Amino acid sequence: MIKFLDLQKINLAHQQETEERILNVFRSGWYLLGREVATFEKNLATYIGAQHAVGVANGLDALRLILRAYIEMGIMEQGDEIIVPANTYIASLLAISDNRLVPVLVEPDPANFNLDLTRIEEKITAKTKGIMIVHLYGRTVFSEELKSLANKHQLKIIEDNAQAIGAEWQALKTGNLGDAAGFSFYPGKNLGALGDAGAITTNDAELAETVRILANYGSNQKYINIYQGLNSRLDEMQAAVLDVKLKYIDGENARRREIAMRYIEEIRHPDIQLPQMPGNPAEHVWHLFVIRSADRAKLQEYLTTAGVQTLIHYPVPPHRQEAYREWNVLSFPITERIHDEVLSLPISPVMSDEDVGLVIRKINSYA
Ligand SMILES: *Cc1c(COP(=O)(O)O)cnc(C)c1O
Repeated sequence: MIKFLDLQKINLAHQQETEERILNVFRSGWYLLGREVATFEKNLATYIGAQHAVGVANGLDALRLILRAYIEMGIMEQGDEIIVPANTYIASLLAISDNRLVPVLVEPDPANFNLDLTRIEEKITAKTKGIMIVHLYGRTVFSEELKSLANKHQLKIIEDNAQAIGAEWQALKTGNLGDAAGFSFYPGKNLGALGDAGAITTNDAELAETVRILANYGSNQKYINIYQGLNSRLDEMQAAVLDVKLKYIDGENARRREIAMRYIEEIRHPDIQLPQMPGNPAEHVWHLFVIRSADRAKLQEYLTTAGVQTLIHYPVPPHRQEAYREWNVLSFPITERIHDEVLSLPISPVMSDEDVGLVIRKINSYA
């Protein structure tokens, strides 16, 4: 069976170094807000090219805290609108609605699954304060036009960079394209911790400091609380693991790109639509390799029987979830069709050439 994602193999690739760093933390007696987090924050900021990185407990909190900080800074207020792609993972929306801000859904471009930048302007109202772009499946979404549009309407660009660490746009990395970015280090992400972890990056010193305070009970010095904050800290153990793995992310993303290239070149089937390699390959880090098929259930069943594990990202769009029941009547036909047809093939830095070849052969002989 070819696993969708072999997390054990991914982490054992750096076993000795990781175990040493974990043991150091264990023996140090210091488990929160210490040296490991400070080191990882510094290295993450350098890697992204941003001035500030702040570790937090997970990706959802990273996005929530950015918006919460904008509220505390007086830049946003309850009832303001944030534009967000309709086909994103639900966490992007939860971060918005949790802050009593209003997610305004926009259809994606079916050619690349990313927010259709030409559909944004028509959604801007007097209450719009931000655009949350999501580099979905690992593919960068950005343009000069988006930047000018945000400038013109004084909107913050918030990047949901949970799936795209290492992706680029021109000479910049995702996470350094907008005003602030949220990262997830959920174990299955391209840079994965051994549990939950997240971070924000930004070039805005006030925002970074506000997030740091909010994530630590709203406290800027011990027992002094300036906000009604929360507890959302990155712990020393996870920071140590992430700091090891950060050194290898470019090599691992390059391997993902190699596999994606082979899939694109070698999978040939009339019922299967492949994703596109962007003109600049650096714009995609292939967190997921998502194909489309009108009869997805049949294809998935066939692949399971053939020994290839696949997953669906995602089976139900946010506006059709019970959590957002007031929107269940809304219609986003492009999004709904994507959710009906997508299937994610195995892709990971530890897949062998033989594994990749087997996936290709099995798909090409699908009847
Ligand atoms: C994983 C993910 C998140 C949430 O990250 P967690 O660390 O799981 O909280 C947010 N947005 C997107 C697009 C994601 O893929």
